[in-house]
Amino acid sequence: DLLVVGSANADLVIGVERRPGAGETVLGSDLAVHPGGKGANQAVAAARLGARTALLARVGDDGNGRLLLDSLGDSGVDTAGVLVGGAPTGVALITVDPSGDNSIVVSPGANGKLTPEDVRAADALLRASRVVSAQLEIPLETVVEVVRRLPEGTRFVLNPSPPRELPEEVLATCDPLIVNEHEARVIVGGELEGSPEDWARALLALGPRSVVVTLGAEGALVATAEGSARVAAVKVEAVDTTGAGDAFTAALAWKLGAGAAPAEAAAYAARVGAAAVTKAGAQVSFPTAEEVEAL
Ligand code: ADP
Repeated sequence: DLLVVGSANADLVIGVERRPGAGETVLGSDLAVHPGGKGANQAVAAARLGARTALLARVGDDGNGRLLLDSLGDSGVDTAGVLVGGAPTGVALITVDPSGDNSIVVSPGANGKLTPEDVRAADALLRASRVVSAQLEIPLETVVEVVRRLPEGTRFVLNPSPPRELPEEVLATCDPLIVNEHEARVIVGGELEGSPEDWARALLALGPRSVVVTLGAEGALVATAEGSARVAAVKVEAVDTTGAGDAFTAALAWKLGAGAAPAEAAAYAARVGAAAVTKAGAQVSFPTAEEVEAL
């Protein structure tokens, strides 16, 4: 079973002709409210594929929190670990202009109140999982506690987004560390030299057991100390890449937890990521197993 530990946000989206400058007011489209946040996105993506999935997260006791709980529940995610209260549900305020460029303000809200103590209280969820997947939209000390409490034999997968420097104990537990180019640059802590194979080597030197570099329409790269292998992208008409990384990570974590070889799991994840870019939105764009099959 897959346990996702991470964020749950309401994405509040308004289309505008032009994004406002300081002191300026512009009129926009009707407000659209979508369930989002990397943790909730991953949990929904995995559940939609048929994975037995639970989410450890925190939302507010408000309408946005209920929107998230409904979306998770409708997708079949076990929400017993979704804690309620402590702060308003996390929100991303998003304005999008006609060219698709956006400006985003995130209020972490309840995500910032998911504490190490909440992880300790969720011991039963941790013990019931073969693989735990985390991101960085929750406090780093909470991710550290997950790593410290990880049961023997349970795999830990991390997408360090938004990226920041990571403590050695977290890096050493990642199997794999999943990064795009931007995240790789921040984790390495300097310029990336050479090819993605070279980036993967630089990342492996920091301690993770394996590394996956996602390369958008170029696919991905899977690397361990033994070597690396490219995973081809599936050719699709890209409509909206929002959530592709979350769908890819969820699929990869689930397949690895089920015992698939890394290259095989990544090839499946690339199909899931490709399917997610063929539809607008994040959670609504995530495919079922049948849709992945049909691709
Ligand atoms: P992130 O959103 O974290 O930057 P990517 O954009 O690299 O992640 O997307 C994750 C994965 O989804 C890629 O490795 C690839 O397999 C798939 N993917 C993303 N964009 C496309 C695309 N335009 N065509 C086909 N596959 C894609």
